[in-house]
Amino acid sequence: MPTVSTVLGPVDVDGLGQTLMHEHVFVVAPEHLDYGRGGWWDEEHRVADAIAKLGALAAKGVRTIVDPTVWGLGRDIPRIQRVAAGVPELNIVVATGLYAFDELPHQYEHRGPGLLLDMPDPMVDDFVRDLTEGIGGTGVKAAFLKCVVEAKGLTPGVERICRAVARAHVRTGAPVTVHTNAFTRSGTLALDVFAQEGVDLTKVVVGHAGDSNDLDHLMSLADTGAVLGMDRFGLDIYNPTPQRVATIAALCERGYADRMVLSHDTACFMDYFGGAWDEARERIAPNWRYDHIHDDVLDALREAGVSDGQIEQMLVFNPRRYFS
Ligand SMILES: [Zn+2]
Repeated sequence: MPTVSTVLGPVDVDGLGQTLMHEHVFVVAPEHLDYGRGGWWDEEHRVADAIAKLGALAAKGVRTIVDPTVWGLGRDIPRIQRVAAGVPELNIVVATGLYAFDELPHQYEHRGPGLLLDMPDPMVDDFVRDLTEGIGGTGVKAAFLKCVVEAKGLTPGVERICRAVARAHVRTGAPVTVHTNAFTRSGTLALDVFAQEGVDLTKVVVGHAGDSNDLDHLMSLADTGAVLGMDRFGLDIYNPTPQRVATIAALCERGYADRMVLSHDTACFMDYFGGAWDEARERIAPNWRYDHIHDDVLDALREAGVSDGQIEQMLVFNPRRYFS
């Protein structure tokens, strides 16, 4: 039985159960928090709040969340360990990789093939270490890789990160989630680079594919073997829930239930609105919460003709296959 690394240790893939494949616990930049400490950021309150929100999610039947928070989004594994210990009924799977829309972090700018410090790309070794030895001395291993191809496409920095992620995948077999921009169809660019690098595309989630309702485009991604991340339920500003549901139902009807996973891409707290996360989320996207899928979306999918078996395929079997 293959196992998956989670924050609390390895879990049999059969134990993943219902899995939301793209949820953040916290998106908070450590240096930004220095402005919030003593003000809008209260570490103890936020950890307790996360335990409560994730406990409520587990009570809906979700057994696992897959958290693609990496460098660039403020990954902090010790904080996640505190949350995980408070909600042991929920598996939390964490990632390695880099979240950058354009340029590399300066820490990789001058090291690599042909650069000031001419050497093999150190990003690959750093990602592999997170996957095989653990992250930052915590002993918590990442179970998947994350990168981005946004509207700017394959800028030199983005391309180098994607190739480093691909090489870490080839070395370890760890699956990949790539954040894409569905409106510029950047998922196609990402899959092309991964294919060149020998990535097993059945181990790739094209994140945020569900922002698109272009069935031909979505089928062209899925026909490579990749999995479509229908993963921003509640973010109606990109695509409202009824349209997301109709698109999934249409793809199920065409035989693609084994090529989709579901999620919200929400968080217990994001610092993009300073300290005003809960108020901003409520005002901008009131359904952008962990329980929207279970409270509203699953029934809407059933009404649109999606069977319980297809829902189980998207929530249980596809995540299990991705991590097997
Ligand atoms: Zn995300």
